[in-house]
Amino acid sequence: MATAIITGASQGIGACIAKRLAKDGYDIVINYYPSEDGKAKAQDVAKECEAFGVKTFCYGADVSKFADCEEMVKAVKAEFGTIDVLVNNAGITKDGLLARMSEENYDAVIAVNQKSVFNMMKTVCSVMMKQRSGRVINVSSVAGLYGNAGQFNYSASKAAIIGMTKTAAKEFGSRSITCNAVAPGFIQTPMTDALTDDQKNAILNQIAMKRYGQVDEIAGVVSFLASPDASYVTGQVIEISGGLSM
Ligand code: NAD
Repeated sequence: MATAIITGASQGIGACIAKRLAKDGYDIVINYYPSEDGKAKAQDVAKECEAFGVKTFCYGADVSKFADCEEMVKAVKAEFGTIDVLVNNAGITKDGLLARMSEENYDAVIAVNQKSVFNMMKTVCSVMMKQRSGRVINVSSVAGLYGNAGQFNYSASKAAIIGMTKTAAKEFGSRSITCNAVAPGFIQTPMTDALTDDQKNAILNQIAMKRYGQVDEIAGVVSFLASPDASYVTGQVIEISGGLSM
């Protein structure tokens, strides 16, 4: 049985990806930020995954910390033997205009959204290199492609993920490891529920399909990138935005 790790999988897009990959037949590692609430939510996601007849492993780790990632990958290797799919999904926002953005908020977003991808890819890809196979799917954002006022830190982290994805595709391609990114637009999750009505209406005006995306519309593309149908797709960024910014 193949194994997939999804970071930040206790809610939102990550939880939906975990369930979709469980449906596809993967044993699932549900990473969550260490907290009682995160653990309880991860266990709920695990139950839904297990309904598809797969095994699950919930692991609390702060993916912005290299040592946490190393420990988690070691534990997953011991539990399942192989790591076939890595989805770097964990992310946070600490929005504000650059003129008013604190150094602390800049560093926090870079640590969780960008450094985590280094931490997870360095540890997981060494396992995949030995296997001579693997799929990495990084969750970027349209903010990383086009920029977004009020998201200097977030856009920086999501643009960096695109560079990391393309570089890893070149470094690992000869080992049959593919690395791609998805760039969601505005998807209905707790992250976007926090926007004001004015912000939400301004966004809807820019979307060709005139609606927000749903989490399963991200999970479907991730499932494709992990599947045999995507065996010759690497170094690509797939925008999933309902036609935003065309
Ligand atoms: P969310 O806030 O619902 O989920 C994010 C998850 O990441 C949470 O489970 C959270 O606990 C986890 N997380 C945060 N910091 C962590 C850490 N240090 N270690 C481990 N886990 C941590 O948000 P979401 O909307 O589901 O976003 C998922 C991903 O999709 C993020 O990378 C986000 O930037 C990206 N994205 C979301 C949208 C959107 O419209 N919702 C658009 C573009 C990109």
